[in-house]
Amino acid sequence: MRTPFIAGNWKMNGSRELVERFGRQVTSAALPEGVSAALMVPFPYLEAAVKTFEQGPLVVGAQTLNDQPSGAFTGEVSGGMLAELGVRYVLVGHSERRALFHEDEAAVLSRVRAALATGLVPVLCLGETLEEREAERTEAVVLGQLEAVLDGLEADQRQRLVVAYEPVWAIGTGRTASPEQAQAVHEVIRARLGRYSASLAAEMQLLYGGSMKASNAAELLAQPDIDGGLVGGASLQVDDFLAICQSAG
Ligand code: PEP
Repeated sequence: MRTPFIAGNWKMNGSRELVERFGRQVTSAALPEGVSAALMVPFPYLEAAVKTFEQGPLVVGAQTLNDQPSGAFTGEVSGGMLAELGVRYVLVGHSERRALFHEDEAAVLSRVRAALATGLVPVLCLGETLEEREAERTEAVVLGQLEAVLDGLEADQRQRLVVAYEPVWAIGTGRTASPEQAQAVHEVIRARLGRYSASLAAEMQLLYGGSMKASNAAELLAQPDIDGGLVGGASLQVDDFLAICQSAG
């Protein structure tokens, strides 16, 4: 049984004060029953966020991790360090990491493995660029990204992932995929999961991301294969984030 999940990705935004504001306003009563939600905050705010939400209702995620457990990797953070802080989720393969930090399929897979090895839940992001969509390569690109990770994992590891479909042309652009466009890709992803196992297809949470906001969340979240959202810009405003969570209930 899949439950709705809304994850906010602050990217390189926010402040300690914003963590505190979320802490004051995001109470259990503010989230609809059955909806779970997470905030992926920058590294310096992780500890404060974990502490703020020690009793719920939010869980805390990081936005990336290194694939090595320790060593001479100046500036990097390992999965073990995140887990030790009480972080539960980590984004892997976000299009900004793929494009700006040159994380290729091998890097994405090794980060997913590192997350799983330390007990974190990887939120694997997939998505096509506008050019790829216009060349009618959406399915090939998205399924290629999905298989590059799933083929490198054991069956029990695959069951521990969350997948987010985020068309690159919709991220931070204000241009959202229509509910039909988003559902069509989610359906294809779920069908492909079925090739691995029926339970994987039935149970994996598939999130949509790309300019999701209070005004369009309900119709996206009403689609049969969309189980939640990965929310960038709108997760920086408590009211907007809560309104999206309400739409998932
Ligand atoms: C994201 O960064 O994952 C994202 C979906 O951003 P936005 O909601 O701002 O498009």
